[in-house]
Amino acid sequence: MPELPEVETIKRQLNLLATSKKIKEIEVLLPKIIKAPLAEFKKAVQGAKIREFDRRAKIIIIGLDNDWSLLVHLKMSGQLIYQNQKLNIPGIAKRSGAGKNQKLRKYTHIIFHFSDGSHLLFNDMRQFGYIKLVKTHGLEEFLAKEKFGPEPFDKDFTLAKFVVRLDRRPNARIKQFLMDQKNIAGIGNIYSDEILFASRVHPLRKIKDLKPTEVKNIYQNIKKILAQAIKLKGTSADLYLDAFGHEGDFLRCLKVYGREDEKCVKCKGRVKRIKIGGRSAHFCPECQR
Ligand SMILES: [Zn+2]
Repeated sequence: MPELPEVETIKRQLNLLATSKKIKEIEVLLPKIIKAPLAEFKKAVQGAKIREFDRRAKIIIIGLDNDWSLLVHLKMSGQLIYQNQKLNIPGIAKRSGAGKNQKLRKYTHIIFHFSDGSHLLFNDMRQFGYIKLVKTHGLEEFLAKEKFGPEPFDKDFTLAKFVVRLDRRPNARIKQFLMDQKNIAGIGNIYSDEILFASRVHPLRKIKDLKPTEVKNIYQNIKKILAQAIKLKGTSADLYLDAFGHEGDFLRCLKVYGREDEKCVKCKGRVKRIKIGGRSAHFCPECQR
């Protein structure tokens, strides 16, 4: 699932690629992706210009110039890919230029056609992703209902604030705490594993048992690991591609995630994988206590 670094990468790239483009037409190939009445959605979107791309937690916010915003959640396997000319993604069957009834690319569900001939594709193999339509002036209120925790790169997200949040959940296990969007926004399975490895903390540790130095390490590694991952345009461990349709390079930096039974990079032990609340945690039992 795309996490903060992947969504932030796409947001930054789209700001360079597609800001101020005019949406000539929106092609909806799989209506269930759009969480709004289709006619209303099309009326709001078609003819509007893109003002900017923003991000909150793992949601991309496309601000239009007409007081509508689109909230795009990529969920498990969504992709937003920009193409400046012909529709063509290597690895996914090409869309034929012939009749509209022809079967389009299997996983492309929404196509934004811009007035200059370029496109933005929403692809989603598992179809959990969505696009919502919200009035821009009501956006704050809408997002407040989601009760997202602070953004890791906000100035307000200090160590003291992190400690306050931890103290509210003394019996939670640290891995689950980090992945809960209501505690901190944007961290999921991949980066919680990597943050805890870098902090030498076992994923099942209870928050009340963490030492102050461990808390400080976790806090610093949240910022450090996420920043490194953004720099490398995210992790393509699964189906993630950036807005250019390229893989992210953080995959080669992963120390534990997806490395079950492989050698630990720091010691002679092996990476273990355990189930925790329906998700898996990867860690080194020697390095992480
Ligand atoms: Zn180790």
